[in-house]
Parts: sequence; C-alpha cells; structure tokens
Amino acid sequence: MRFRSLWLATSKKTLGTTKFACAIGLILSLQPAFARTSLTDTPQSVVVKYTATSPKAKLTLRVYNYAGLDSASLASSEKVADTILKDVGIETAWVDCPVSGRNSRAYPACESPMGTTDLVLRILPRRMAVKLRHSYDSLGFAQTCPFTEPACELTVFYHRVDELAARGYRADRILGHAIVHEIAHVLLGPAHSEEGIMRAAWTPSDLQHISLGLQLDFTNDQSTQLRRAVLCRTTPPAPQGLEQANLIAR
Ligand SMILES: [Zn+2]
Repeated sequence: MRFRSLWLATSKKTLGTTKFACAIGLILSLQPAFARTSLTDTPQSVVVKYTATSPKAKLTLRVYNYAGLDSASLASSEKVADTILKDVGIETAWVDCPVSGRNSRAYPACESPMGTTDLVLRILPRRMAVKLRHSYDSLGFAQTCPFTEPACELTVFYHRVDELAARGYRADRILGHAIVHEIAHVLLGPAHSEEGIMRAAWTPSDLQHISLGLQLDFTNDQSTQLRRAVLCRTTPPAPQGLEQANLIAR
C-alpha cells in the first residue's frame, strides 16, 4: 500500500518524463513480491539501438557464487548476459563477492554501501536451493523491487542449470539467460510474455536455440521499459511534500 499511495499522489501532479516513467514502475511493483522462471521459458529481435549520446543506463551486480562455479564458466555466463542487456541499452558491471565471512577483506568492493542500481545475484547449489520454496521447478526467482530501493536480489539455482547441461544444453549460456530473465523481473515485476526471454517456460527449442549460441531477446516494449527502469534507478525522484503527507496519513 505504501507504493500505491505514492503512485496516486504523483499521478495527480504534472510530471516530467522521468517521474512519470518511474511511476509506471511503481504500478508494476504492486504485483506479488517474487517471480520465477520455470525450466521450460523464444526470441524476438530487438531493433531498439542506442547511441553514444543516449543517457547511460548501468547496473552493477554483486555476485555471490555459492554454487562454486568456476571463474571461467561464470565469466562466460556474465558475457552472455552483458550481450543481451547491451542490446537494450543497459551496461553491466560484475563484482565478485565472498560467500563466507572469513575472506571478506579480500573483496573491499563488496563492503561499500549499495545504491538503487546495485543488484545482488545469488547463484545457489542444490543444498541451498532445496530450502527455498521456489526451487522445485524453476531456474530462479527475483525480488520485485521499487526503484527507490537499493540492493534488490535475484537468485539462480545452479543445479537446475546443471540438469539441463546433463541433457546436452550449454550451461554457461543458459545461466546467462536465466540471470538476465531475473534481472528483468527485478526491474519490471513478475509479468511474463508470450515470446522471447521473458517467456515463463523455455521450451526444448528455446534451450537448443540458446545452446547453439543464439539469443533469446526482449520485445521492443520490454526493452524500452527495462532501460527506463534503470534510468529511474539511476536518478530516483525525491519524494515531494504532498507525497510524503499521503504516505504518513495512510
Ligand atoms: Zn520469470
């Protein structure tokens, strides 16, 4: 309800483009708090291109590799994700973070405060995934996060990726696509689409497509919304007096 109040208050005001776009993001955030990808999620080519003069939309992901995935495979998956997100005008930076407190000093970049464009990626092994209600048939899940909130989380279950690898699909590319799918849930909410990377269930044909080195893309609408969502997170509008008053009253 807190965010519905903020939306209702802002919707009555004259809004600049950024504020209006960000308010749209708030509507999406009213949907259930978690979304998931099932094993079984086709592509549509993205024609939106961005130039050097377009505003910079950048996400930083702090990666907690609980699954112990080797660094070369992880880097390969991150590269897959980079490519997909770059096509929609979003840059990404990846920061490896410690999975235990013992060596946290070796990762100073993970100690700094997190902002609204900093996301937390957890890659879980089976032993950790089974403790979560999302693990039965999904590749991962994500927190649906208001654009004013820092450190939003997404999680991928590596044992599910491994199961697909055992059936001949490419683990690194599937993991990269799954990460991007969950990033989109963080940014846009739990909705899926009938096509592309945001399909709820990837078919064997999709998995083969991915494994052949091809890409599941976002629709044009999704591409626009994603970039806008990152820009909102980059410069979230400060609450104004009326909005604050409504929040308190409710
Ligand atoms: Zn999903």
